[in-house]
Amino acid sequence: MTPAFRRLTLLSLIITTHLYAAPATTTALAAQPDYQQGQQWLQQRLQQRQQQRQQQKEHGRAQNVILFLGDGMSITTLTAARILEGQNQGLSGEEHRLYFETFPYSALVKTYNTNQQTPDSAGTMSAITTGVKTRAGVIAIGPEQDRGICQGAAAYHQPTLLQWAQQQGYATGIVTTARITHATPAASYAHSPERNWEADSDLSREARRYGCRDIAWQLIHQAYPAGLDIALGGGKRNFSRDGERHSGNLIADWQQQFPGGQYLENRQQLMQLRADTPGPVLGLFADSHLDYHLDRSGQQPDLAEMTRAALAFLQQQKQHHPQRGYLLIVEGARIDHGHHAGNAKRALDESIELARAVQLADQLSDNNTLLLVTADHSHTLSMAGYPQRGNDILGFAANQGLLLANDQSPYTTLGYANGPGGSANARHSERLPGRILWHQPEHRQTEPHSDNFQQAALADIYAETHGADDVALHARGPGARLFQGLLEQHEIYHRIRRALQQEN
Ligand SMILES: [Zn+2]
Repeated sequence: MTPAFRRLTLLSLIITTHLYAAPATTTALAAQPDYQQGQQWLQQRLQQRQQQRQQQKEHGRAQNVILFLGDGMSITTLTAARILEGQNQGLSGEEHRLYFETFPYSALVKTYNTNQQTPDSAGTMSAITTGVKTRAGVIAIGPEQDRGICQGAAAYHQPTLLQWAQQQGYATGIVTTARITHATPAASYAHSPERNWEADSDLSREARRYGCRDIAWQLIHQAYPAGLDIALGGGKRNFSRDGERHSGNLIADWQQQFPGGQYLENRQQLMQLRADTPGPVLGLFADSHLDYHLDRSGQQPDLAEMTRAALAFLQQQKQHHPQRGYLLIVEGARIDHGHHAGNAKRALDESIELARAVQLADQLSDNNTLLLVTADHSHTLSMAGYPQRGNDILGFAANQGLLLANDQSPYTTLGYANGPGGSANARHSERLPGRILWHQPEHRQTEPHSDNFQQAALADIYAETHGADDVALHARGPGARLFQGLLEQHEIYHRIRRALQQEN
């Protein structure tokens, strides 16, 4: 930065400081809520807890389980998302809670894979869905098998929670904002030594030779016949030759297999879903992932709408399974994608969307339902500096005025340890339309609220990486008490089964 430019920058900073800091100062100091201390506040918190205990059953056996996964929803993501949601409601933000952060029980979860300190979604979700901690990149296969090698893999298939539940007579469902064949949803119904074998065109020669099937094929020809009731998400391109397939039309196969089933392609069809039919439901609402909530058109349903439809359907199916309830897995997938793009705004917005879906599920499910909210792994998002209370969470760190780094430039409260925001010149291919980089001087002062703003990152790499730190788990309902303390990730599977099988 030249001195002349720096003077110019500082001048415009003084102007923008006012724009950013002024509202924060007034909300933070003038309207500081007084209910966070003193007898009245303590009483209120106790009453809330007692009310929860009366309203929410803690003992007994769980009949149903709803497992929410925020893909990449690190603890820092929770903190920042709760502040953003609070600030969107006109609060200071820090005192706010995301809906599930009011649940009575919580735990920390260790996420490492058997071969990686920092994990990927395939290994972590496989740990959750099979009860066996495993390698990065494999889908519901034990750690004995190497990633990407088909030969011998069948010996290490680990049955998933959904498959177990189907055998026990539970109604089962999966909801995601990602491709339904993407690692996290796939780990609930498929077995593959390679997460990227989503369509037959992805299979290696070795995989074909030893008979490994792609994940889309497994959904249609194995998961549904085994009893899967409903799957909603994206990834249509992996199901027909119009998209990524070399051979076959899996949607036609599915329709032939289940003449009473309902195949859905848009939001309107989902809204008209008939819950009182026994036939299964397959909803593929986008060729790849569903759009981010911030970019969504009316053609695609959002996570809460899909959750509502899946719950309504599963609750009806319960009538065909009088002894058993249902098991539903819901993934907020695009938190992870926002973070990989170094774009905190979308990651936080998607986390708020997940909380909204949890709230709906909480309202629509009964007392015998165990509701869990966790993440598969963390990300490198950090909240730093000493911004004052109520400071705009998407803005510059400010405390009675902007806080400046040694080079006299301001910095945002949110940043990443690595990722595309580390680039001083936009030499990477774009992951966001109209991406706005922290390092582009023309954007420095005014743009941290832009949807496409990419926070500063220390190490300059194409996509921000996952983090290795623990994630949180929040729980309510019968069996929720089993989720306390520091858990290994694969223990989640065993505790869910315990909650369903024993009095708690
Ligand atoms: Zn990821």
